[in-house]
Amino acid sequence: WLVLGFESSCDETGVALVQTQEGGAPPRLLGQALHSQVAMHADYGGVVPELASRDHIRRVLPLTHEVLAQSGRALTEVDVVAFTRGPGLAGALLVGAGVACALAAALDRPVLGVHHLEGHLLSPFLSADPPEFPFVALLVSGGHTQLMRVDGVGYYELLGETIDDAAGEAFDKSAKLLGLGYPGGPALARLADFGDATAYALPRPLLHSGDLNFSFAGLKTAVLTQARKLEGLPCEQPRADLAASTQAAIVEVLVKKSLKALAATGLRRLVVAGGVGANQQLRADLNRACARQGVRVHYPELALCTDNGAMIALAAAMRLQAGAGQASRDYAFDVRPRWPLDELNREAAPTR
Ligand code: ATP
Ligand code: MG
Ligand code: FE
Repeated sequence: WLVLGFESSCDETGVALVQTQEGGAPPRLLGQALHSQVAMHADYGGVVPELASRDHIRRVLPLTHEVLAQSGRALTEVDVVAFTRGPGLAGALLVGAGVACALAAALDRPVLGVHHLEGHLLSPFLSADPPEFPFVALLVSGGHTQLMRVDGVGYYELLGETIDDAAGEAFDKSAKLLGLGYPGGPALARLADFGDATAYALPRPLLHSGDLNFSFAGLKTAVLTQARKLEGLPCEQPRADLAASTQAAIVEVLVKKSLKALAATGLRRLVVAGGVGANQQLRADLNRACARQGVRVHYPELALCTDNGAMIALAAAMRLQAGAGQASRDYAFDVRPRWPLDELNREAAPTR
């Protein structure tokens, strides 16, 4: 099958075409195109929902043509059209859903609404070193921080999650306090390269809580206190030190809790997904810690850590292959701005 996928849950318009493969191999990416609205929202210090929706409308069809040209395929060859049904910004989601359903109706092809987090979660299957089920997933994005046990497509067990800010949010808010632009994660990571991660003793919230939950709100407050002391200082070094110390605090909690989840489940495989999965310090520390425990770690390709259309087309293709989702010719679409991932779960979990 050829699956065309649309992502428009937030501030990235993504379109991609994947092809399912024989013999249980993961679907193959034939082409993808992405437009990030980051520059447009930068002046406002965050995503402006109404502007996001309008920009998705402007970008989605040109991107679709780009993907088809890249893939050397015609629109009429597409078998299934997939779109992000949620969670995300309602107006932004509606653009992808509307375009996907209109195209599918015109082509007389079925549509499938995909869960954005399932897309993130499965994105490492497009990498050169795809994982195998079951695994522990560390999902670290701008809006979510979760540890999950994943036994297959549609078998997701939440092991723990953040009780306040997401890891990406912690990066973004700390970056803002340090006077870095939006989104701050990559900028904070760049500044941290020049800093001493042991310079500031920042809190590691819930590190010893005994469960697999996270909390990052307190860290942000601690960064605020330190950042205030730096105001007006002529020297850049303390800012770099604070950036490095912040990154170290976030990364340490993510690594330790991931190891705990692996120990609790007895699984020997970890999958990292979401924007923060692009963080090089996180990757280095996870690789080191997991190598010591004999655990294999899988990541998405760097470009597929943040939002993209490839992961949406992929998730739809994998759902169809696993018999875990049905594409339908009901074009009366709706979106789910809030949508817990475990609502997707299939009836019985596979025997462990
Ligand atoms: P969600 O998927 O939960 O709805 P989202 O789609 O906004 O949220 P993603 O696109 O997966 O989230 O990731 C964006 C987040 O990743 C931002 O918070 C960004 O700062 C962070 N991020 C991206 N690259 C890096 C990096 N190299 N280091 C740290 N954080 C990063
Ligand atoms: Mg984004
Ligand atoms: Fe996302």
